[in-house]
Amino acid sequence: MARCLVTGGAGFIGSHLTERLLDLGHEVTVLDDLSTGSRENLAAVANHPAFRLRVGSITDPLLLTEVMAGSEVIYHLAAAVGVKLVADDPVRTIETNIYPTELLLRQAVQGRQRVFLASTSEVYGKNPKERWTEEDDLHFGATTRARWAYGCSKAIDEFLALAYHRKFQLPVVIGRFFNVVGPRQVGHYGMVIPRFVDQALAGRPLEVYDDGGQTRCFGHVQEVVECVFRLTESSAAHGEVFNIGSDELVTIRGLAEQIIAKVHPGLAIRYIPYREAYGEGFEDVRQRVPDLTRLRTTLGMQPSRSLSDILDDVIAWKRSQPAGDQT
Ligand code: UDP
Repeated sequence: MARCLVTGGAGFIGSHLTERLLDLGHEVTVLDDLSTGSRENLAAVANHPAFRLRVGSITDPLLLTEVMAGSEVIYHLAAAVGVKLVADDPVRTIETNIYPTELLLRQAVQGRQRVFLASTSEVYGKNPKERWTEEDDLHFGATTRARWAYGCSKAIDEFLALAYHRKFQLPVVIGRFFNVVGPRQVGHYGMVIPRFVDQALAGRPLEVYDDGGQTRCFGHVQEVVECVFRLTESSAAHGEVFNIGSDELVTIRGLAEQIIAKVHPGLAIRYIPYREAYGEGFEDVRQRVPDLTRLRTTLGMQPSRSLSDILDDVIAWKRSQPAGDQT
């Protein structure tokens, strides 16, 4: 059994990964500054004998060094996330997503630790291809458009990780997450499914940005963390980049319609221009679908829960939350 460090382990994806690792019998230390994550996300494991929470920032080099020292495997999920948060605070995005990753990778080389680096489908930017494979080009917009700070910062992390792998044989796996959803995801940072479900449960019109013709694929967080764990365990995956998510495509309008049908039939959709939702100069990604061949070939599996099933799970979780906690 391994001693694991999960940076960002109090976040939405990190907390599910932490639970899974503990279930498998590993020891887990979480490092999290509780800025977008929360203690409640870890409530189910708070008293687990193999679990420890260190509250602090990955931007604190002494703390990072200390928590890394006792670990064999490092899952690096701490980052500034969410298109809205990132567009609102690009300085924080760059400072949180680049410098600490560099330090973490350098220390992992010294400690001979295995690393999983959480990246994102945002790195593909506006690539017009219908399906993105890991070797495709990155198409960012202008640096004056704050959205691209997120994808760019993660692309730099990927370059660093690959460079450390080539130069020092660091066993590192890079996972590009595609729209991960499930229980514990909150809507304040812009994520569409928790927002739509909250709106539907409150009986308010669902706010679809632009014409709703943009597409996404939504993967269930439990299947995504299973892929993360298995890839990190697999030596064939080291030094490689993987798309991780579902490839079931839906338009945002179609998503809103499905949620309305499940929660509150008859509810209206309100179409909101991007300008109003994100401010002037925002650019969206029109189509985002992963090619999962590499993931399937390496693991013999991929996230496969249907969107309908995922929505039922999110709706059931939201309904179980105390009133007023729905965000
Ligand atoms: N979106 C929407 N209404 C919302 C939030 C998001 O129509 O309240 C749209 C958003 O413009 C994007 C898609 O839903 O096209 C997914 O947004 P999200 O922020 O969840 O993830 P992204 O794929 O943009 O990272």
